[in-house]
Amino acid sequence: FVAWRSPHPTPFILFTCADWCYQSQFSCDHQCNSKYFIDCDGRYQSPINVVTRKTLLDERLTPFKFTNYQQIFRGFIKNNGHSVQVGVPHLSTISGGGLSTTYKAVQFHLHWGNSKGPGSEHTIDGEQYPMELHIVHMKHHYTDLSTALADQEGVAVLVASSTVNKYSLNVFVSDGNTSLPPVSLAQLLPPEQNLTSFYRYKGSLTTPGCTEAVVWTLFENTIPLSSDQLRAFFDLKFHDGKPMVDTFRPVQPLNGRQVFRSGATVALTSTALLVAALASALGLSQLN
Ligand SMILES: [Zn+2]
Repeated sequence: FVAWRSPHPTPFILFTCADWCYQSQFSCDHQCNSKYFIDCDGRYQSPINVVTRKTLLDERLTPFKFTNYQQIFRGFIKNNGHSVQVGVPHLSTISGGGLSTTYKAVQFHLHWGNSKGPGSEHTIDGEQYPMELHIVHMKHHYTDLSTALADQEGVAVLVASSTVNKYSLNVFVSDGNTSLPPVSLAQLLPPEQNLTSFYRYKGSLTTPGCTEAVVWTLFENTIPLSSDQLRAFFDLKFHDGKPMVDTFRPVQPLNGRQVFRSGATVALTSTALLVAALASALGLSQLN
């Protein structure tokens, strides 16, 4: 813990670490804990808990324009020892949604828990979901992620949380092969008309080096996954051979950041109103 607290802290400490780990990897060398990545102690880190009543409506958060999101590709699955990542051809882009420019898709990956507990990174009003999908994009004029990360808004990540459901599309889980059945990014997300309600804030990568260069979009609608699909992930292994479980970073302090919401948060509001109306009709509101 001394190295980066020297009078001349350098971001290059990152390269002195061979690796890093999640809390679920007990045998991890302390040298390689994320505490050694200087940016991971920054003020604008991710993930966060979104307190919906504290979000601010922002009319500029218009619906996204998805281009080539229907394009079918055969993604190559890479178990990078921390997660399962799928590279995508840089043809699919997003714009609108309050983004300053067009961003192109680079890769997607997932964060999950274990057989007994949820594993999303972001939480909404304290609720953690079983799994979280990250589709990582970078500004269209960059050619690699490391360059994009030098730009404060160089990277845009679309987030969809999953709920466990009996019915779902079989798109996430392959049978252990390293290439995915042909999919499009559109197939990974809820239908486009259900993507107009989202939260927006600025944060960081959720893995080392935790660079604060990410425009986050958290869709309110969730993806249904079957428990079988989810279970397949618990059989994956970290590089050290331990089960690849709990691949999420805990929520980080907001430190004064404002979380915005798009204009169309109909679903949540109406559900809340409906529940309130029901409670009132049933006389439950008298109980407290
Ligand atoms: Zn991620």
